[in-house]
Amino acid sequence: MARVSVVVFDVGETLVDEMTTYLRWEAEGLTDGIPFTDQDLHADALPCLAALRALGRRLGAAGNMRAWHEDFLRPYVDFVGSSERWDVWKPDAGFFEHVVEEAGVPANEIAYVGDRVDNDVLPALAAGMTAVRIRRGAHAADETPPGVVEIESLAELPEALDDV
Ligand SMILES: [Mg+2]
Repeated sequence: MARVSVVVFDVGETLVDEMTTYLRWEAEGLTDGIPFTDQDLHADALPCLAALRALGRRLGAAGNMRAWHEDFLRPYVDFVGSSERWDVWKPDAGFFEHVVEEAGVPANEIAYVGDRVDNDVLPALAAGMTAVRIRRGAHAADETPPGVVEIESLAELPEALDDV
């Protein structure tokens, strides 16, 4: 297997804490249409991105989301993508074709990290990527398919990637 050179993150619940975000929006009287901010990130997100960068991995963030969320993520990764800008939504294979194009390497050098089996893990595997499942949030009870790397915190990711 080719060594993973590019790590691409789903956004909702993988990097962004959706519950915290939605509660903030509600408390501030805001509704959909407000970009994410640093305070919406899971506490393990930025340390993980920094650690992977220090290890020389190229990083991406791409999720089913509005395009206006891309700017917030751009400082922390090498490329960003959104279903709105790409006009294709996970789990559609076309979404993962965009990821490969942006990553600039063959699919078997990409690890896609996500919380959902249906939208992240299965289509990433179908695209020829390594899939990493982070078990948290509303979909935490779903079973991770056999053979797929599973983590419970992004703090585990740098070491977990040593094995793939
Ligand atoms: Mg997600």
